Amino acid sequence: MGSVEVDISTREKYSAERAKRLATTNFAKRLEVSKDPSVRDLLQDPWADYDARAKEAPYLENGSRTKFLIVGAGHSGLIHAYHLIKAGFDPKDLVIVDNAGGWGGTWYWNRYPGLQCDVEGYCYLPLLQESGFVPQNRYSHGEEIRQNAEHIAAKFGLQGMFCTSLVVADWNESDGRWDVTLRRQLGPAHEELNVPFTVSTQFLITATGPLSSMSIPALPGLDDFRREKKVFHAARWDYDYTGGSTTDPHMVNLRDKVVGIVGTAATAVQAVPELAKWAQHLYVF
Ligand SMILES: Cc1cc2nc3c(=O)[nH]c(=O)nc-3n(C[C@H](O)[C@H](O)[C@H](O)COP(=O)(O)OP(=O)(O)OC[C@H]3O[C@@H](n4cnc5c(N)ncnc54)[C@H](O)[C@@H]3O)c2cc1C
Repeated sequence: MGSVEVDISTREKYSAERAKRLATTNFAKRLEVSKDPSVRDLLQDPWADYDARAKEAPYLENGSRTKFLIVGAGHSGLIHAYHLIKAGFDPKDLVIVDNAGGWGGTWYWNRYPGLQCDVEGYCYLPLLQESGFVPQNRYSHGEEIRQNAEHIAAKFGLQGMFCTSLVVADWNESDGRWDVTLRRQLGPAHEELNVPFTVSTQFLITATGPLSSMSIPALPGLDDFRREKKVFHAARWDYDYTGGSTTDPHMVNLRDKVVGIVGTAATAVQAVPELAKWAQHLYVF
């Protein structure tokens, strides 16, 4: 068996980078976006059709009872739902709630330019054989992965209740069930519907994902900067501002703009080449 040699300078470089990320300096501090009113607007869902969602008859209301409540409509939630149905439960026995406006989880929220899977589609996309979905590319683009999620939901008749957050869940010992407080988030035009309500479920499945909260660095002066300039997170890409769309790569509105992108990991590796094609000048921090 051979052994992998890592030279000392590489080890030192990794240690130094690790220390930076663990430091309690501003570099490592993150904003608590959901709790900080000054940046809460960055959380706003650019994709949700609130008016359409508000018109739908909700699967759950105050006092509703269900057998399974799944929180999260990403791959994990979809796979749980599929296997429950395969085991013999009626799709009407389960409701999937998500604070997003539709199916896909990660792939609902993230629609930045260049978004692509780093694993081959035939390995990464769930339930291809069961649903009959055929990926068009070896490495699926984000939009294709989101469409696969929608296809699974339609194929198996899943009940999704969107723009709805789990607030708190309490185990009710006497009932042997969960009392779950949910809250709809249908935007300011539907304030009367955005109130907490409680439902009861026999089984509660949390499929809330490891990467569904935005990470925003607590940069000094961010508030002032935001008063003058456009700022958004890659998980809430603003195509109205940049031009283009998830299917049209032409971000023509950036032609006269100086653009800065913060971060150099997987998201930046995909978005930077696309931004560089359109921005007047691009800085990568
Ligand atoms: C930009 C990006 C690119 C990625 N690319 C790859 C890749 O190429 N290959 C790979 O293997 N993995 C990749 N991943 C990892 C990806 O997260 C997983 O592969 C997988 O999609 C996670 O699925 P999930 O269902 O567990 O969670 P998610 O897809 O995150 O779904 C969880 C859902 O739960 C919702 N939710 C959370 N809390 C609540 C609450 N309290 N109330 C209601 N809803 C709630 C969230 O809004 C979200 O919609 C990527 C992740 C990101 C962010």
